[in-house]
Amino acid sequence: MAYDYDLFVIGGGSGGVRAARVAAGETGAKVALAEEDRYGGTCVIRGCVPKKLMVFASGYSGAVAEAAAYGWDAKIGEFDWLSFRNRLEGELDRLEGIYRKLLSNAGVDSFDARAEITGPHSVKLSTGQEFTVKTILVATGGHPVVPDVSGAQHAITSNEVFHLDALPKRMLIVGGGYIACEFAGVMNGLGVDTHLWYRGDQVLRGFDEEARQIIVDGMIARGVTIHTELNVSDVVKQGDTVRVTDTNGNEHSFDEIMFATGRAPNSRDMGLEDVGVSLGRKGQIDVDSFSQTAVPSIYAIGDVTDRVNLTPVAIREGMAFVETVFKGNKTPVDHDLIPTAVFTQPEFGTVGLSEEEAAQQEPIEVYATSFRAMNVSFIDGPHKVLMKLVVSKATRKVLGCHIVGDGAGEMIQMAGIAVKMGATKEDFDRVCAVHPTVSEELVTMKSPVRTT
Ligand code: NDP
Repeated sequence: MAYDYDLFVIGGGSGGVRAARVAAGETGAKVALAEEDRYGGTCVIRGCVPKKLMVFASGYSGAVAEAAAYGWDAKIGEFDWLSFRNRLEGELDRLEGIYRKLLSNAGVDSFDARAEITGPHSVKLSTGQEFTVKTILVATGGHPVVPDVSGAQHAITSNEVFHLDALPKRMLIVGGGYIACEFAGVMNGLGVDTHLWYRGDQVLRGFDEEARQIIVDGMIARGVTIHTELNVSDVVKQGDTVRVTDTNGNEHSFDEIMFATGRAPNSRDMGLEDVGVSLGRKGQIDVDSFSQTAVPSIYAIGDVTDRVNLTPVAIREGMAFVETVFKGNKTPVDHDLIPTAVFTQPEFGTVGLSEEEAAQQEPIEVYATSFRAMNVSFIDGPHKVLMKLVVSKATRKVLGCHIVGDGAGEMIQMAGIAVKMGATKEDFDRVCAVHPTVSEELVTMKSPVRTT
C-alpha cells in the first residue's frame, strides 16, 4: 500500500526533530512532523537552553565579588531582568527558527498542529488534515506536574519562570530535583531572596550522598535558604504576594512560588491507548530496546517514554530509531553510563554508580578529596570542590565518577569517555596530571578513603 508518508513524527523537540531530519535527509524517506507548540521543545524553549543562559547571568554576582577580592575595583549593580528576558526571548526565537529550517532543509513537511493517532497507520491533525503513514514516531516529551494542594494555581512552574514580568524579591521553590536545585541557584545569584523546601531529608535524591552534601553546603554558603522535611499545604494569593502555609502549619509570604516537583509524559488524549499502545503508571509509553511500542508501526522516544529524561538521550534514541527502521541496522539504545551535569551552584557532574549504589552491588574502594580550589583559597572563599572515584575491588574498574565544582559539567564529559571505555583506577593513575588544575586530583588520588 502506498502511504502519504513513510514517517510521521509527532513532536518537534530535540528527539523528534533529529529523527525526522536524519530519516528524510539521509535515507530519502518521505517525512512529516507535527508540533502543536514551539519547535525545539522543552530543551530549547523552556528547559536546558534558557536555563543555562540564566545560570550564566546569575553567575556574575559571585564573579564580581570574587574579582573585588582579587583586587579589582568592582562592584555589582542592579540586575536588569527585562533587558535579559528580552534578549533571552530573542535568542529562543532565533533557535526556534533554526529548528524549523533544519526540518525544511532536510525536506520534512512540518505542520503547526496537534496530531492524534487514529490507527496504526493514520494520523489526524487539529487542522482537519488526515494522513496515512507507514511508521509513526511519538516524541511528545513531558510537562511539569504540580501537586494537588489548595491554591497551587497561584504558583508557576519551569514553563513560566523564563517569562516573568519582574523578578520576585522573595521566592519559594518547592522540590529537590534537578530543576528545583538549579533554579534555587539561579534565582539566588540574580539577587532574589531564595527559599527551597524539600519534602525529604536531602535534595537530589538518588545521586552520590557525599556529592549531595557538598552541593547543599555550597548552595547555603551562596545564600540559598534550604528547608528539608517541609512541604506546602496551602497557597493563598493576597494582592501581589502569595501566603504559603507549610506542613507544620506556619505561614510565610513570598512574591513568587514555583513548583519543581517532577514532570509527566505527554501521552494523553492522542489516541495511543485506543490503537493498542500500552502506557505505564505515569502515562509513559512502554517501548522495547528499539523504542518500538506494542503496536509494531508505532515507536516512541524521549521523555514521553520516561527512560532517562535527558536531551542527548532523546537524540540518541531518535538516531537509533532511524538506524533500526530506515537503515535496516537494528540498533538498541544504550542507556548505560550516561554522564550528566546538574547546573547547581556549585555545579555537579556525574557518571556511573554512586558510592551507595556501588556498595550494594559489590566490594568497592572510594577515592575522594574535597578541598578549596586554588582560586578560592587565595581569597579565603568558602566553596569546596569534590573529586571522587568509586572503584570495583574485583575488576579495578571505575564504577562512578562524581565531581562538584566549577566546570564539573565539562570535566564529566571527558571522564565519561574513560568510564564508558571501562577504565580501571590504574588507567586513571597512568595519566600524567595537568598542573595546576582541579581535575588533576582524578589521577593523583593514591589511597582509598573508604573500602567496603
Ligand atoms: P525530579 O523528578 O528530578 O524531581 C522532582 C522533585 O520534586 C523531587 O525532589 C521530588 O521529591 C519532589 N516532589 C515530587 N512530588 C512532590 C510533591 N507532591 N510535593 C513536594 N515535592 C514533590 O524532577 P524535576 O522536575 O526536577 O526534573 C525533571 C527531569 O528533567 C529530571 O529528572 C531530569 O531528567 C530532567 N532535567 C535535567 C536537567 C539537566 O540535565 N541538568 C535539568 C533539569 C531537568 P522526592 O525526591 O521525595 O521524590
